[in-house]
Parts: sequence; C-alpha cells; structure tokens
Amino acid sequence: MQPDTITPIAQRVTMRVLLVEDHQDIAASIYDFLEEQGYEMDAASDGITGLHLAVSNSYDVIILDLGLPGIDGVDLCRRLRDDARNPTPVLMLTARDSLHNKLEGFAAGADDYLVKPFALQELAARVKVLSERATRLFTKQLKVSDLTLDLDAHEVTRDGHHIDLNPMAFKLLTYFMQHPHRLIKREELEHAVWQDDPPDSDALRTHLSNLRNAVDKPFSQSLIHTVRGFGYRFTDQHADS
Ligand code: CA
Repeated sequence: MQPDTITPIAQRVTMRVLLVEDHQDIAASIYDFLEEQGYEMDAASDGITGLHLAVSNSYDVIILDLGLPGIDGVDLCRRLRDDARNPTPVLMLTARDSLHNKLEGFAAGADDYLVKPFALQELAARVKVLSERATRLFTKQLKVSDLTLDLDAHEVTRDGHHIDLNPMAFKLLTYFMQHPHRLIKREELEHAVWQDDPPDSDALRTHLSNLRNAVDKPFSQSLIHTVRGFGYRFTDQHADS
C-alpha cells in the first residue's frame, strides 16, 4: 500500500461525498447528478454501512436520509459526532417537513436540512456550500457577503468600510465566518471562544451584542441571526430555520 494514499482535503481537487439513502431511485438520481457535477461519490443503503464508511474514509460532505434500516439518520449523525468526533458536514434528508424532525436533526449535529421531494439543483447548491466549509478552515482571507476578514492583517471590512473590533468580537466573527450558513449551537460558540472554561451565561450575549453593533447595525442586511432556543446562524441567505 502507498503511504500517501490519503490526500489532505485542502490539496484535493475532487470533493468526496457519501450518500446514505435506502430508497433506490432517489439514491440513484442523487448519485448520478452529483457525479456529473464532478463529485466523487460513495453510497450506502443502510445506516450501519453508512456509519462504517463515514468513519473509515474522509468525506467533504455526507448526505444522510433520516429514515434508514439498521440505524436511522439521527442516530447515525449522533454517533458520528459524539462517538467518532467526526466533524464532516452533514446534510439531512427527510420526507416530512416537521419542526420536530428538523430540531432533532440539528440536535444530533446535522448542518443542513432538505425536505423531500427536492430539486437536485437545490441539493447540489447546498452540498457545494457545505463542501466549501472544509476548505474555508485553511483560508486566511474570509469573505461572506460584503464582509471580509483578514486573519493575518487582523482586519475587518464591510462594504469597503473598516470595522474596529475588540479581541473577543474578532474571535467570534472569525468562528462565524469559518462556519457560515449553518446552525451554530450556543455551547459550540462558547467552546470556540473560551474552550472548556466559559464565563457566566451573559458573557456571550454581551460580546455578541457588541459584534452586532459593529458588523450588522450600520448596514441594511444583518448577517448574525438568532435561532430561538438553539443558537445562531451567520448568513446572508434565508435564515428561517
Ligand atoms: Ca428512507
């Protein structure tokens, strides 16, 4: 076996996608569509095979059906995050548009959600956003909408205007911009800033309010969105979920 068979994500040209879906026709159409778009595809039709593939290979995105034989999508996602400590972005698919399913999926660690039936073009667009996230973690120049952040120069600008941030606000904004468009749990944000030693519960609120005043308030479009009871989403796209 070659010692360099696993290429780091940042150097890889082709994005790898794992599809876990037990419905044969749906699986085949997703597989073919994404393969045509240039993705390297792997597929599993049950939860146990899916989990095995997910932990033994390195993927840029996992597309995960909610209802699966073996273990279901929520359980698979939870095991991936909690047991395997695997951060690969997960796009969850479900047949029902119920808030309960959605919240359950997010609580298990899914990054995005799509309700069947969906247009393959929309699926591809979401896979693209998620796959770019991994690449983003190696980038020093972050950009979301008209906001840019330069990690080396420690500089933030929006719509051409320079924005002054204190170190804590800069740290929060960096994390948001490295993880755009997805739901970020409050605890995840606290961990990103203070690791395992967060101060009192109002500290995050205070720092976020400072950040919002600097980054959102002077501009017509807000980027930091509160998802009630859950956390936050940093995006210039729809932020209803
Ligand atoms: Ca299914």
